[in-house]
Amino acid sequence: MNGSQGDRERTFALAERANALMRQYGPSATPRAYTVWYTYVAGLHPKINEAITDLMAKGSLAEDEIDALYETHLDGHRLARAADHTSRTVLAEIASLMEALDLSLGSTAQHGESLRTLLNDLDGSGLDRDRVLEIVGALVATTREVADSNRVLETRMRESRNEIEALRETLEATRRESLTDPLTGLANRKQFEESLHNLVEESVAERTPASLIVIDVDSFKRFNDLYGHLTGDQVLRLVGAVMRENVAAGVTLARFGGEEFAILLPGLGRLQARAIAEKVRTSVMTRELVKRTTGEALGKVTISLGVAAVRPSDTAVSLLERADQCMFKAKREGRNRTVDDGSVVPPPG
Ligand code: GH3
Ligand code: MG
Ligand code: MG
Repeated sequence: MNGSQGDRERTFALAERANALMRQYGPSATPRAYTVWYTYVAGLHPKINEAITDLMAKGSLAEDEIDALYETHLDGHRLARAADHTSRTVLAEIASLMEALDLSLGSTAQHGESLRTLLNDLDGSGLDRDRVLEIVGALVATTREVADSNRVLETRMRESRNEIEALRETLEATRRESLTDPLTGLANRKQFEESLHNLVEESVAERTPASLIVIDVDSFKRFNDLYGHLTGDQVLRLVGAVMRENVAAGVTLARFGGEEFAILLPGLGRLQARAIAEKVRTSVMTRELVKRTTGEALGKVTISLGVAAVRPSDTAVSLLERADQCMFKAKREGRNRTVDDGSVVPPPG
């Protein structure tokens, strides 16, 4: 039996064992329960094994106990959030450590400086010359000693400061990468969700306007089928580039789904957001696509856009849903158009 055949046998054996346990201890055969039990029999997660051993001692497991195990140890989203939190905490700690180092480097230099000032002051003080020379001599000697030992310390501090700075840059680059869509360079889904949440929270708390534009490429499946996935990817890059050209720097632009994009607009109400949506739409529409490898003309692509302005009762989810509804309405009305939430779901009152 070769290796992969052996692996196959093993995973089937584990699956059967997971099944048997799930039957014996319950509660039900949900995907979550299966994931937890499989993790248990495969011994993939020591904490899960510990917890289950404890729970099994009492004879059966409740649905919410299985759910809790899943959420604590296996939910990918939650783990990603935890990792993100950790890297932010480390970054913040490094920043404050660097501040402390900077302060301490500054104060060493200052010490030398204040001694020099003192020497200058003594110079015109009218004290008897020998006494002045004596004081000056003593001061110069201590200053030298302090300066010598400080120089060693400073060199070490500078070295560790540089190391810390390099570490901070690596961490920051990694964090940035984890939030960026590699195809378009725009924010990815994770960053989009975080930014959308912040946008709504701030706008509601401060009673300032804010809007969301969602964009979906029209008949994109047909385009992919006709010209291939790689050319399809080129279209996605083009849409990203046109979005960049039409909004102010600093505005969050995201690709949050395969061919779905978003623009987050703090400070702008429905009509201003709609105007930006229309600029992006007409700009995409006028681009002639050319297949890079062959020069073949591919015609044009169009996009449909939904615009929703934040309302006091909104959450990130409700705002996104409303913008999506608008976008779907644009599709139904014939595509290549913008629909805003002034017409789709009338504001209450
Ligand atoms: P509609 O006008 O209703 O939006 O039609 P559509 O074909 O664009 O809509 P649908 O959602 O059915 O299809 C989306 C297609 O987008 C499916 C898939 O072929 C394509 N797609 C999704 N993600 C990617 C990607 O990353 N690259 C490429 N090339 N194509 C993608
Ligand atoms: Mg779509
Ligand atoms: Mg589409």
